[in-house]
Amino acid sequence: MRMSKLLMPTLREVPAEAEIASHKLMLRAGMIRKLASGIYSYLPLGLRVERKIEQIVREEMDKAGALELLMPALLPAEAYMQSGRWEIFGPSMFKMKDRYERDFCLGPTHEELFTQTAIDNIRSYKEYPMTMYQIQHKYRDEGRPRFGVIRSREFVMKDAYSFDLSEEGLDRSYQAMYKAYCNVFNRLGLDFTIVDADSGAMGGSGSQEFMVKSPVGEDGIAYCDDCGYAANYEKAECVPTEVECPEGDLDMEMIHTPNAHTIEELVEFMGAKPYNFVKTIIYKADDKFIAAMVRGDRDVNEVKLKNLVGCVDDLELAEPFEVKRITNAEVGFAGPVGLQIPVYVDKEVELMKNFIVGANQTDMHYKNVNIGKDFTPFMIADIRVICPGDKCPRCGKEIKAAQGIEVGHIFKLGTKYSKALGLKAQTETGEEKDVIMGCYGIGVTRCLAASIEQNNDENGIIWPVAIAPYEAVVVPVNAKSEEQTALAEEIYKELSDAGIEALIDDRNERPGVKFKDSDLIGIPVRIVVGKKCGEGIVEYKERTAAEAVEKTVSQAVKDVISFIKSNK
Ligand code: ATP
Ligand code: MG
Repeated sequence: MRMSKLLMPTLREVPAEAEIASHKLMLRAGMIRKLASGIYSYLPLGLRVERKIEQIVREEMDKAGALELLMPALLPAEAYMQSGRWEIFGPSMFKMKDRYERDFCLGPTHEELFTQTAIDNIRSYKEYPMTMYQIQHKYRDEGRPRFGVIRSREFVMKDAYSFDLSEEGLDRSYQAMYKAYCNVFNRLGLDFTIVDADSGAMGGSGSQEFMVKSPVGEDGIAYCDDCGYAANYEKAECVPTEVECPEGDLDMEMIHTPNAHTIEELVEFMGAKPYNFVKTIIYKADDKFIAAMVRGDRDVNEVKLKNLVGCVDDLELAEPFEVKRITNAEVGFAGPVGLQIPVYVDKEVELMKNFIVGANQTDMHYKNVNIGKDFTPFMIADIRVICPGDKCPRCGKEIKAAQGIEVGHIFKLGTKYSKALGLKAQTETGEEKDVIMGCYGIGVTRCLAASIEQNNDENGIIWPVAIAPYEAVVVPVNAKSEEQTALAEEIYKELSDAGIEALIDDRNERPGVKFKDSDLIGIPVRIVVGKKCGEGIVEYKERTAAEAVEKTVSQAVKDVISFIKSNK
C-alpha cells in the first residue's frame, strides 16, 4: 500500500476526549473516529486490525468445530419478551418500533435468537451436540460509555452458543471453547488471566472470564501467585481472618456517640480499631428489605449477597427515608439488635466477640455485642469483598489484586433459555429433554484496545505481527531523490512479492514526519532507504528495538521476511 493513497489522518496532539493510552493512540493513529458517544467509525488502519482479530477468532472457532452463521442485528421483540430480558435489559437495550408499531431492538446479545434458530432448524437429536457462532455488531446503551472502543455502545462481538443433550456434553463443549479462547488470546499476543466469574443467581453452573491485566481495567481480579488461583472480585471466595477482640464474657452496653456516622468518625471517637466494629447495611432486595453485616474494615459484596438472597431483579441500598423507617434512626446508626428484617452476617463476624454496632437510635451505638446472645442472624455466609493480603482460598498464601479488562466470557447456561423458549429434543427412546446450552463471547473491538494497552510506548502503538495493520514499512528518506525512491520501490516490491503486507511511505513529507508516523501506527518493522543507498546499504529497525541496524539491501529484505514469518 502506498501511504500517499492511504486515509491515515494521524494527529500530533493528544485528543482531549481520551483518557487512556489505547483510546488516545487509536485516535492519534487515525484508526477510529467518534461519531457519537460510544459510537465509532473505523478508518482503514483500524478496520484492518479489527478484521485480523476477527479472522483469528474465526479460525479458532472453526477449528473447534463451531459453525458460523449470521443473525440480523435488528431483532423482533418476541423472543426477548419470552425470556423476560425485554424488561431485564432495561435502558441498556436499544428499542424501537417499526411503521406498524411492532417492537424491535438492536441485539445486545443473541441467546434467544440462537435458541430460536435451534428450535426452527435442528430436526433430530442426532444433530446434537452443536455449537454455532457469529461475528457481529452488538448494541448496548451503556450507562457510561468510555475508554473508546473498550466500552462502546456499538461493538463487534463474537458470540457462540453450544447445544447439548447432557451435562457431560456441555462440559465437553465448554472445554472446547475454553481451549479455543486460549488459542485466540495467545495468537493475539495478549497477556491474559482466566478467572472464575459469577454466574448469577439464576441458572448457570460455571463461568469464566478472560482478563487482560491492565491498570485501566474496570474489573477487579483477585489472584494468587503461588497456586495460580484467580477469580473475579465479585466471585472470589473469602477466607475469614480472626482479629483481636475485647476478652471476656461482657454484657452489651449502649453508648452515646454524637455525630459519629462513619467508621472513621467512630474510630476517632471511641479509640477502637476499625475491625472492632461491625457495619450493618440495609438493602432493598426486589421489594423486601434485608440487612447485611460485615466487619468495619470490610465491604459488602453485593453480587454474593444478591445470589444468596436469590434476588431476581435488583439489590440496591435502601433510601435514607427507608433506613429511617426500618431502624428508627438516622443513616449511620443501623444495627442488628431488635431489627425486624432478616440479617445476613458475614462469616468473619462469627469469629468476633464483643464488637460494636449501631443501636438503631440516632447518635447511639452498642458495644460488647455477641452473636447468639444479643441477636440472631438469619444466615451466616461469605458476603464480603476480598482484599489484597487476604488468604488464598486454595493454598492459604497471600492474595493479590489487579485490574483487568474482560475480553472474553464463557458461561454454562444450562436450560434457562431452552426452557423459556421451548427448545427440546426427543431422544431415541422417545424421551423429551430440555437442551442444555452454553454461551461464549469475545469482545473483538475491545481486544483491539486491550492489545494497545499492553503494547505501546511514548512513540505510539507496538503491534504484534499477527494483528498489525501492515507488517512492514519502507521509508525513502528524501522523496526528491530518484535513487532512494527507486531502491525503496524495489524493496517494497520484493517484500510484497514475498507475501509481506508492506507499506511504502511515498509521501512528500519530511523524514521526521515519516518516522513519527510509522512509530505511531505501530508497524512492526521498518526499512529506511537513505544516504547510503548508493552503496546498497539501508537501515533495518524493528519497532521494539532501540536502534536501527545498517544492512545490505538483500539482508534487510531477508530479515524482514523471516521476522514477519516467525512472529505471525
Ligand atoms: P462488561 O462486564 O464489561 O459490561 P459483559 O459481561 O456485559 O461486559 P458479555 O455480555 O459477557 O459482557 O459480552 C461478551 C464480551 O463482549 C465481553 O467479554 C466484552 O469483551 C465484550 N463487551 C461487552 N460489552 C462491551 C462494550 N460495551 N463495548 C465493547 N465490548 C464489550
Ligand atoms: Mg461478561
